[in-house]
Amino acid sequence: PATEPTIGQVLASRRQHIASSQRHYYREPMNLVRGRDVWFYDEDARAYLDSLNNVTHVGHAEPRITAAATRQLRKLNTNSRFVYPQIASYTEKLVATLPALLEVVFLVGSGSEANDLALRIARQVTGRQHIVNIDGAYHGNTGWVTGISPNRYKGPGGQGAPPTTHEVTIPDRYRGAYGYDDPQAGPKYAAQAAAVIERISGDGRRPAAFIAESLMGTAGNIVHPPQYLADSFAAARRAGALCISDEVQVGVGRLGPWWGFQLQQVIPDIVTMGKPLGNGHPLAAVVTTRAIADAFDTGMKYFNTFGGNPVSCAIGEMVLDIVSRDNLRERAVAVGGYFADSLRQLQSRHELIGDVRAEGLYLGVELVRDRTNKEPARDEAFAITEMAKERGVIVFPNGVYDNVLKIKPPMTFARHHVDLYVEALDDILSRLEAIARDRRQ
Ligand code: PMP
Repeated sequence: PATEPTIGQVLASRRQHIASSQRHYYREPMNLVRGRDVWFYDEDARAYLDSLNNVTHVGHAEPRITAAATRQLRKLNTNSRFVYPQIASYTEKLVATLPALLEVVFLVGSGSEANDLALRIARQVTGRQHIVNIDGAYHGNTGWVTGISPNRYKGPGGQGAPPTTHEVTIPDRYRGAYGYDDPQAGPKYAAQAAAVIERISGDGRRPAAFIAESLMGTAGNIVHPPQYLADSFAAARRAGALCISDEVQVGVGRLGPWWGFQLQQVIPDIVTMGKPLGNGHPLAAVVTTRAIADAFDTGMKYFNTFGGNPVSCAIGEMVLDIVSRDNLRERAVAVGGYFADSLRQLQSRHELIGDVRAEGLYLGVELVRDRTNKEPARDEAFAITEMAKERGVIVFPNGVYDNVLKIKPPMTFARHHVDLYVEALDDILSRLEAIARDRRQ
């Protein structure tokens, strides 16, 4: 419509008023004006297949979410110190998805806030300051949380780890010391983590917490080897640390079970969740045990204006209902399995694909220039992103080397959407290979 700013106007306005550190996807982004199910539409009504949005978990503009939100907006919205029914019905449903011991909830507004609060709880309850994290991880944007995110403090503009942060090796079976062919990879990577924990404990820097995503997102879709979290959690607990599972990226059924840590047969002391909880509405949470929550309550109030307001709760409850009623967890496993098989077939035909990692509807395609030395194909990943955009498919890389195509679409993604993605990627890889062949000749 003529009343909406065009892409040129939006970009000019962004340059003027949005801080340049807030980067957007694409060199030449499209002006997205509408979304529906797994599709975006730009100002010219061109459609783009969304393979990237783990936020719009049950689909863009899902009518039942819109109805729940507007129904509650018309009735009541308020800050969270008042008492209203929605918070009770939502948290009842949320804790029902978790192991029984995890029964006390803090509702907050973002994944970063959730992790920040988790660190604060762990530090206060243990009386310690040191945190053990995994190399490559991203946990959010607050000061503390940036300080446990190697993806930031080791990246461009980073200042290195704060003295209270202690990294353990990323359990990457593609690039790391222990590969897919090693059935003991999980215990071996965990032994490296245990060595770090024992070393810092031994010299008086006893850890308050070990924090781990249950599947590492920004680090490049790293699927933990079996037994990795169980052994690492055991080592952390021997040192008196609490175990925090960051489910912000992968939670709410994307991997099959409601929460990723369930795949590793562990029960964390604190779970943080965000992104998909509100289907795009800012809703996030920290869930912990009664004992830890009570130990955190020293008399100091914890107040979060927006966290768990009635509208957020109504939306959050509808997200959980839709995931259950529409069997989206089962669907994620089935469609994700088909996606993984299709990508592995591509891998057999395209040298650029070094590794395909998948768990449910969370997949990563790692691109390399050379399968022997595994040189990351970063430029190629960004070229694919632009070429896919021209074909109406959203593709974007992440990972330590920006060479892993991340795939985490709305959970309503179907097999025919997988086929669209895979055909586009097949075609683009063939074109890139032809260009590379021409260059060599
Ligand atoms: N934890 C993880 C694992 C994340 O991927 C992110 C966001 N990418 C965050 C925390 C931070 O969440 P938010 O952007 O909502 O603050």
